[in-house]
Amino acid sequence: MYRSLNDELREKFGGKVYKLALEGGFSCPNRDGTLGTGGCIFCLGGSGDFAEKPSGSIFEQIEKAKARVAGKNPSGKYNAYFQSYTNTYAPAEYLERIFSEAISHPDIVALSVGTRPDCLPDDVIEVLARLNKTKPVWVELGLQTIHQKTAEYIRRGYPLPVFDSAVERLKKAGIYVVVHMIIGLPGETPEMIFETAEYIGKSGADGIKLQLLHVLSGTDLAKDYKAGKFRTLELDEYILILEGCIRRLPPEMTIHRLTGDGNKRHLIAPLWSGDKKRVLNAINSAFENDKLIQGESL
Ligand code: SF4
Repeated sequence: MYRSLNDELREKFGGKVYKLALEGGFSCPNRDGTLGTGGCIFCLGGSGDFAEKPSGSIFEQIEKAKARVAGKNPSGKYNAYFQSYTNTYAPAEYLERIFSEAISHPDIVALSVGTRPDCLPDDVIEVLARLNKTKPVWVELGLQTIHQKTAEYIRRGYPLPVFDSAVERLKKAGIYVVVHMIIGLPGETPEMIFETAEYIGKSGADGIKLQLLHVLSGTDLAKDYKAGKFRTLELDEYILILEGCIRRLPPEMTIHRLTGDGNKRHLIAPLWSGDKKRVLNAINSAFENDKLIQGESL
């Protein structure tokens, strides 16, 4: 039995909390020329392809996003989710202003900030720690892999010790940390993927998002895919690797995601991942038969 996001939300907020994707107008050092201009090899321009386009204040964005999902969220509780690009890539004063505005909304019960570990200087962590005293702050770090060769191929732009330091400083500041990893990166064997899961499990992070590699049109990854440089995973391979990762995580770590929300309009491969319902059903039925994941001892 693994600890799911729903378990965590039930425990902390008494039930479901709906994420509202918001835009703070950020860029990314991997795109603006600071580290590079092409971005990570799989990135279509910010991992939050479904985020609200920046229009109006944060408060107005929240109201608009709420209006679209209100019927689906009887609890009326929302998480302000800054997802696209690098959401701490700005001066601390600016971050404090927009994040404070988000958590000042009465229906917002938590703040989630997606970012890179190399964009978390101490003054930014101080801001996040201050906000965390008012409402819970969750920081999501895009690690993807612990393997340097893969990190260079995907143009991640920072070495592993930068991640270690970010997690350590965030945890010291009392902030909840979620780490993203990608399953199926070119050149990685299942063993290498398990090593990444195990590393994240021991990192001190609170949660993990396991995501399948999506090849999206318009990315440099798509060029390599079309050139036949790698293949993507089949559904049954993905499920096996996913199970292997979960077995290596500590039971108290919350699993926030078991697959990914690829941008269907741009999805080139694997096409089976476009049917999220089918994927989740296949994962759930595989897990039902998996005694270790169900928590039974063998
Ligand atoms: S760090 Fe995030 S936003 Fe920046 S290029 Fe990589 S995936 Fe895209």
